[in-house]
Amino acid sequence: MAGIYIHIPFCKTRCSYCDFYSGVNETQMNAFVDALCTEARIRKEEIPETVKTVYFGGGTPSRLRREHFEKIFDALQRHFSIESTAEITVEANPDDLSEAYAEMLSRLPVNRLSIGIQSFHDEELKFLSRRHSAQQAIDAVKRCQQHGFSNISIDLMYGLPQQTTDVWQRNLAQAVALDIPHISSYHLIYEEKTRMYSLLQAGKITPAEEEASVAMFAMLIDRLTSHGYIHYEISAFGREGYFSQHNSAYWKNKKYLGLGPAAHSFDGDNRSFNAPSLTRYIKGVESGALNRETERLSLNEKYNETLLTGLRTMWGLDLTELTTRFGDEYYRYCMQNAQKYLNRNLLKTEDGRLKLTRDGIFISDGIMSGLMRVD
Ligand code: SF4
Repeated sequence: MAGIYIHIPFCKTRCSYCDFYSGVNETQMNAFVDALCTEARIRKEEIPETVKTVYFGGGTPSRLRREHFEKIFDALQRHFSIESTAEITVEANPDDLSEAYAEMLSRLPVNRLSIGIQSFHDEELKFLSRRHSAQQAIDAVKRCQQHGFSNISIDLMYGLPQQTTDVWQRNLAQAVALDIPHISSYHLIYEEKTRMYSLLQAGKITPAEEEASVAMFAMLIDRLTSHGYIHYEISAFGREGYFSQHNSAYWKNKKYLGLGPAAHSFDGDNRSFNAPSLTRYIKGVESGALNRETERLSLNEKYNETLLTGLRTMWGLDLTELTTRFGDEYYRYCMQNAQKYLNRNLLKTEDGRLKLTRDGIFISDGIMSGLMRVD
């Protein structure tokens, strides 16, 4: 089983908190799509197995036009063996999802949409410099549902400066009312080199208090699980049958191919990274010398990845698999370090798996780093 990730490096405007690679100049879009199709051909041998998921991320994939998608799908069909029931996700921004665009997407082999809503509160959307309003977000979801998309995910953000628990509860209530089967929710992170980070450094914004952030995360879990969503990964909630197959494959350490500038790939032993520059990407593909770096993972790095990705999910870390892949010494190291968290009911073992408890989820980063190994 394998997945394909496609990075679309264009956004209409940049959001103040985002550090994903993209640019607002769309003049190279045609050249980019041609380069992407060529990269797919050049790298087709890396994925001889059946492809079960394709994910268009970015950037903003909904900046692509129909002819771009058609070209890309044509290349994917030609170079890879895509399963007929593959999950094919496109990330979209609400302001791009007009009637005509939703209709166009419904005619492509796309069967899942991930809509970057972030908030249903206009002031918060303004603060995040999103381009849409709350009403546009609601209308976009309904429009996509009317065009036959039942598998829809939305992103919501919490832990914003001055965000009140009341507004957060209303955001959650609105999300639930839309009857979508998947919600991903993240705390605002102040990434270096973003406008939001500069504002923080300049003392122009005050980050949310730790206590408020914890309270909002608890509300998120309680509200969504009480409405039938399963909390299957720290930031992901899905109804039965609607978990993100693409992301679940990442969390299970499966192989994936990343196409496009700044895209990452993983083949089980190596990680590779395409250059985060559209110009260098296009030039590299055209010359046949891809601008990409590869690093071979050490045993400790593989153990750390297995630990981090496993513990993030409700399935936890499979201890038998851990021993088979890494040997008794790694198993003992893991369990010796896990003991203090097991004693405090922050970790538990269940069916041969090590899992975070509800209390553990709130301090998952600390627990995971407590179990990691350094070279
Ligand atoms: S959050 Fe999405 S739309 Fe905003 S800049 Fe980042 S990739 Fe672009």
